[in-house]
Amino acid sequence: MALYADVILPLPIYSSFTYAVPEQMQGQVRAGSRVIVPFGRGNSYTGIVEAVHGNPPKTGEAKEIILPLDPEPILRHPQLKFWRWMSEYYLCSPGEVMKAALPAALKVEGESWVSPMPEPDEDLVSELSEKEALVYAHVVHAKKARVSEVEKAVGISAPRVVINSLLEKGLIQVMERLVDKYVTKKVSLVTLTCLRGDQEALHSFFGKVTRSRAQEQMLVAYLDMSGWLNPQGELVPVERKALLEKCKASPAILKALTDKGIMQVEQVRVNRFSDGGGNRAAQLPVLSDPQQKALRDIRRSMGAHLVTLLRGVTGSGKTEIYSHLIHDSLEHGDHVLMLVPEISLTTQLTTRLRRIFGDRLLVYHSKFSDSERVDIWRRLLTSHEPMLILGVRSSIFLPFPKLGLIVVDEEHESSYKQFDPAPRYNARDSAIMLATMHGAKVLLGSATPAVDTYYKATTGKYGLVELLTRFSEVPLPEVEVIDMREKRKRKEVTGPFSSTLLAATRRTMEASKQAILFQNRRGFAPVVVCNTCGWTPSCPNCDISMVYHRREGNLRCHYCGYSVPLPALCPACETNALQTYGYGTERLADTLHSILPEVPMARMDLDTTRSKDAYQEIIEGFSNHDTRILIGTQMVSKGLDFSDVTFVGIVNADTLLNFPDFRSNERAYCTLEQVAGRAGRRQDTGRVMIQTTNPLHPAIQAVRAHDYLGFYRAELAQRQQFFYPPFAKIINIYLRHKEEKAVESLAQTFAAQLRAIFGARLLGPDTPGVSRIAGMHIRTLMLKIEPGASMSKVKQLLREAYATLAASTPASRSLRLHYDVDPA
Ligand code: ADP
Ligand code: ZN
Ligand code: ZN
Repeated sequence: MALYADVILPLPIYSSFTYAVPEQMQGQVRAGSRVIVPFGRGNSYTGIVEAVHGNPPKTGEAKEIILPLDPEPILRHPQLKFWRWMSEYYLCSPGEVMKAALPAALKVEGESWVSPMPEPDEDLVSELSEKEALVYAHVVHAKKARVSEVEKAVGISAPRVVINSLLEKGLIQVMERLVDKYVTKKVSLVTLTCLRGDQEALHSFFGKVTRSRAQEQMLVAYLDMSGWLNPQGELVPVERKALLEKCKASPAILKALTDKGIMQVEQVRVNRFSDGGGNRAAQLPVLSDPQQKALRDIRRSMGAHLVTLLRGVTGSGKTEIYSHLIHDSLEHGDHVLMLVPEISLTTQLTTRLRRIFGDRLLVYHSKFSDSERVDIWRRLLTSHEPMLILGVRSSIFLPFPKLGLIVVDEEHESSYKQFDPAPRYNARDSAIMLATMHGAKVLLGSATPAVDTYYKATTGKYGLVELLTRFSEVPLPEVEVIDMREKRKRKEVTGPFSSTLLAATRRTMEASKQAILFQNRRGFAPVVVCNTCGWTPSCPNCDISMVYHRREGNLRCHYCGYSVPLPALCPACETNALQTYGYGTERLADTLHSILPEVPMARMDLDTTRSKDAYQEIIEGFSNHDTRILIGTQMVSKGLDFSDVTFVGIVNADTLLNFPDFRSNERAYCTLEQVAGRAGRRQDTGRVMIQTTNPLHPAIQAVRAHDYLGFYRAELAQRQQFFYPPFAKIINIYLRHKEEKAVESLAQTFAAQLRAIFGARLLGPDTPGVSRIAGMHIRTLMLKIEPGASMSKVKQLLREAYATLAASTPASRSLRLHYDVDPA
């Protein structure tokens, strides 16, 4: 029987494509496997088989699959279903979901770059097949080459398969722009084959080496180096290389010991985040009474609800409660996914969770090199052991065998929403769908739940459990609001700091405590102006002014990344009058350093955390008191736990207030309450100061009183009055075009078309605050739909309307249109 396969290709096209499966491939082409297929003229792509069936395409003749790549599918049920759901819900193509879901090394295309891994494993190299060796030699020689070039140059059949097998062996890697390369090193560790307490076995080992002094010496050296004989201490891993060096012995001696079954050598990846590992005995924290009660309530709630919300104030010990639930699930034989909104949080939580879950904890995020990510992917594909995966939003795409529980920490965080590129998904909401598909439970945790979430939890859709005291029984921090207009009038301001805030910082240092200062802007100065003519630098590609970064000496666009050196003279009037205004984190740190030169401080923002280890170093340094003040952007606000921070200063809250969108107040409130929550988490009551020119703003007042419910109620009333979520569903429509005129008229036409269908539910077109990004002019439309309406019907209508627009207006050919469903 002729077989056909529907294949998802990495293209922004909604449908999948049907290919014929040549007979000799029929066993190998299955749902979830990768295949190379021809596409267009002379092009080929790597795609994922979505389904195999007997139905030829309705039109035209099916082209044949060129090559299957995997002996086994690389996806597991229900991943394809999840991808399909995501592309339909968020109005993007399955190919775009695939691009987001797969690590780069699993989607090698002709235009991908590959390079050899530094420090290759020589044993692996010597065992390569002829074809592999040929391709490998080529990549090593080229240092860096496009896959298509390698394929052409080596002139063998099926080169892509060979490239993939080299990738899998970790000898070559796919290069990714922007991502810092961090190479996992493999080391060979030596261990004994018996258990540590087994004296008898150890005796027999000595019996077996009596005739070789060198072997005996190596055995003794091992016992010594590993601390084997000291039963209280942890077993120290012993590297093969170190052992050989210590004994000045040849590998043959070690080989003799492994042949005798005394020692074994294992290759392990060294992961800088896995301190020790090996520990499997769960040491669960003992819960306080209120925590116990919350845990019981959550378990009960999970019996009745798919999703449960835990609202626990900052420092109430939500992580400790999660640990118990995670433990339950693992014991039950299920996998657990724990989502966090920020890489810096994985850094801190890794240490805490590793202590409890040992090597059952896997960490997954974008600062890992591609080979590490593929490693975790493969481990989940092949392993049957229950694991806890701690990751940021993209970890929802991993091939979980069976999930029992998903924990979404800081569920209110807008960074769970991916804004660009497609799929524009919210990882929290997608996780709920993923859990449904797995029959798993979801626990959402936050001190400041999203308005939408709390609404669902109080109207019965989700379960609700509340924990309103801190673990240590320390009260929530005292919040003082500082009116900066007043302070300026009284000349009590130095740079960005009021004298009150500086005094509090000084007192904190004198008390040997630590402080966190929050500033929502990175860079040195957000504004550069010519004092003679008023010129300001703006990005040539975007409709926005550029930010001055002093260390690099350049002006940078935070939207498209464009940068130029700061000119010495004003380019407009050629006078030497360029002046910088405002404070980004870089300048804030410099200024504070000149005021308190003896205090060591660190800065954490996008610019200081580009390399993978940077988070770790900053967080460790602050935990150890190597640094005493931590200055940062919203990165420092999310869930970090430092015991000696007693003071938190919000340097300029104004930058959080008054954005022209309906979630602006909620975002401001959550951020402020979260930052405030970093203070006074142990013995001493924390103090928080908020500097603002708008002290009566409702978000600030709510933080001052730690009044979540008051804030929630006021916000909910507003949402109801103006028909916003949770009382409406929102789809934002973005139209982008190189020509401003074209985008304006296309937006008008499309709006008229949609208005004929949706009436007053359609708003716009609008010109957004930043109306041009990366050379594209932007217009937006907003669609507000009643929650009861059929969203699939709405989406169908949108697609049809767009098809009409595309068919009737030639200018729409270079129009880029995308949807943002449930904008954050
Ligand atoms: P949250 O996530 O709710 O802000 P955390 O889980 O970070 O709070 O807990 C705050 C601090 O209190 C942490 O340092 C944690 O180790 C400590 N803590 C909370 N519960 C316990 C417990 N049951 N036993 C020991 N320490 C706890
Ligand atoms: Zn000028
Ligand atoms: Zn730009």
